[in-house]
Amino acid sequence: MYDTIIIGAGPAGYTAGIYAARREMKALIIGKEPGGQVAMASEIENYPGFKSINSYELVLKFQEQVKALGVEIKNSEVKEIVKLENDSFEIKTGLEVFKTKTVIIAIGLSPRRLAIKGEQEFAGKGVSYCANCDGPFYKNKIIAVVGGGNAAVDAAELLSKIGQKVYLIHRSEKLTAFNVLVDEVKSRENIDILLNTEIKEIIGSKNVKKVQIINNEKHKEKFLDVDGVFVEIGRIAHTDLIENFVERDNRMQIKVDEKCRTKTKGMFACGDVTNVPFKQITTAVGQATIAALAAYQYIQLKDKE
Ligand SMILES: Cc1cc2nc3c(=O)[nH]c(=O)nc-3n(C[C@H](O)[C@H](O)[C@H](O)COP(=O)(O)OP(=O)(O)OC[C@H]3O[C@@H](n4cnc5c(N)ncnc54)[C@H](O)[C@@H]3O)c2cc1C
Repeated sequence: MYDTIIIGAGPAGYTAGIYAARREMKALIIGKEPGGQVAMASEIENYPGFKSINSYELVLKFQEQVKALGVEIKNSEVKEIVKLENDSFEIKTGLEVFKTKTVIIAIGLSPRRLAIKGEQEFAGKGVSYCANCDGPFYKNKIIAVVGGGNAAVDAAELLSKIGQKVYLIHRSEKLTAFNVLVDEVKSRENIDILLNTEIKEIIGSKNVKKVQIINNEKHKEKFLDVDGVFVEIGRIAHTDLIENFVERDNRMQIKVDEKCRTKTKGMFACGDVTNVPFKQITTAVGQATIAALAAYQYIQLKDKE
């Protein structure tokens, strides 16, 4: 029986692990993608203590600290959570089942999908959700970036330095990214900005070969030859796993109180997956601190009952 199982191996999950260990709780972190979204960033320049740190290095530092404190880490996906009669939980990964007194949900956000034909088929074969991770594979290639916000414009700028040509495809009439970023992409000769335009289908054989696009203003369709499609249209909370245990807002984010408690006794949530307004590493680790200490307090009080 664990004192706490932390689901998620991003900044929130690792921090919850650190605080749990320092309270001598028997803790396990189960995470699908080590590092979470930080692994998708490049340089981090707003985490105290480091003027600038490579995101990979920061993730390694988080992991080293967690491991040094004796917290177990499993690289796996939690598929099901069952509440037992004595207010403890069973956490199932498909292959293994673990028992725990408390659960800390730190599952973060995942990329929003386009939900068009070819997207799923070519995921990892030309369709990517992370310019920083997959960009280097597109040296001298032709790339489409979908989206008009900061992430998309940032990705287009980065990919224009690697690829031969970048199409920045946005369905509205104006890019919504910060002006300084927009000015930068507008000044790049190898970036073509296609506004009022959507991708209808991603086409290929083994890998992506082209996209069919439609201009919604002129109602004109055409094909563009591309080697890759980077989807940067925001991130969403996938919280169906815990839908019966928590209350969610209209963005499917978990509602928590000031101690990061959910509506289920013994279940806490922290980081980007909650309704915390600003999604940053510092806010995630701050909430994770509260969640772990609140879980400790919950066990102490329960033991006295
Ligand atoms: C490209 C990019 C650049 C960024 N740059 C910065 C920056 O410079 N500064 C900054 O402060 N913030 C930045 N952010 C935001 C920052 O990365 C997030 O706010 C932070 O990572 C949130 O941490 P988290 O632990 O809550 O969630 P995440 O980092 O999203 O981690 C969630 C974890 O949960 C795991 N998970 C999900 N579902 C399951 C499941 N069912 N079972 C097991 N594990 C599961 C995931 O695999 C992952 O390990 C950036 C984000 C992106 C995408």
